[in-house]
Amino acid sequence: MQTTRTVLVTGGNRGIGFAIAAEFLAQGHRVAVTARSGDGPTGSMTVRADVTDADSIDAAFTSVEAELGPVEVLVANAGITRDTLLLRMSEDDFTSVIDTNLSGAFRVVKRASKGMLKARFGRIVLVSSVVGLLGSAGQVNYSASKSGLVGLARSLTRELGSRNITANVVAPGFVETEMTAVLPAEQQAEYLKSIPAGRYATPEEVARVVVWLASDDASYISGAVIPVDGGLGMGH
Ligand code: NDP
Repeated sequence: MQTTRTVLVTGGNRGIGFAIAAEFLAQGHRVAVTARSGDGPTGSMTVRADVTDADSIDAAFTSVEAELGPVEVLVANAGITRDTLLLRMSEDDFTSVIDTNLSGAFRVVKRASKGMLKARFGRIVLVSSVVGLLGSAGQVNYSASKSGLVGLARSLTRELGSRNITANVVAPGFVETEMTAVLPAEQQAEYLKSIPAGRYATPEEVARVVVWLASDDASYISGAVIPVDGGLGMGH
């Protein structure tokens, strides 16, 4: 029997975030999602927030705390890509991806940690990517932001670990969502060749790992990077 928690997932209106919110709901937790547009799955509370704006994050947490209680589980999932080769990458392409994927995670983690420290309990899961560890041509901005999450989670583990707060990273490979649907067919086929599993992941396959990392069963796991990539990164 798992303890029922209050969960907040950023970017829970579609893709992997939506699947994560749905899986937490299916396991009986109280779930809120942040969204800039649209809504989370039926049964979740949707709050408007942009992870590049600390005030909107603060307001979102305050509403969730009032409705569902302090956030015990935080999933930092919101992310964007702006792929292009280094010589064509503008400063804005680089900083906007870092601002959303890495600084955005920092902002939500910082806000969530207040309640977690008070409660002496917290589960933080950061959604990274296999390319944060392997690198990826055309994704200098994105892979830098995603590997930054590993340092973030490991430093959180050292700083907050003694307060019963864990911080882990999930590193998905290629997942079928709107983010990957826009890639040219040839590029998708090229990726497929390098995946030992011979197929892409579904958002639900990532969601189940995230929910498990936040569960009572994973209470002694922290600072870990868990790949969900069909073998693409060979355990990295
Ligand atoms: P989608 O593009 O389908 O969804 C992205 C989500 O992030 C949306 O909910 C979006 O909200 C939200 N978001 C983007 N920018 C902001 C912002 N500034 N503030 C708040 N929310 C924001 O992507 P996926 O579901 O595929 O990706 C989810 C996460 O998983 C990302 O971090 C991504 O990098 C990572 N990932 C994805 C992989 C894949 O193959 N798909 C592989 C590895 C990692 P809105 O709808 O309002 O824009």
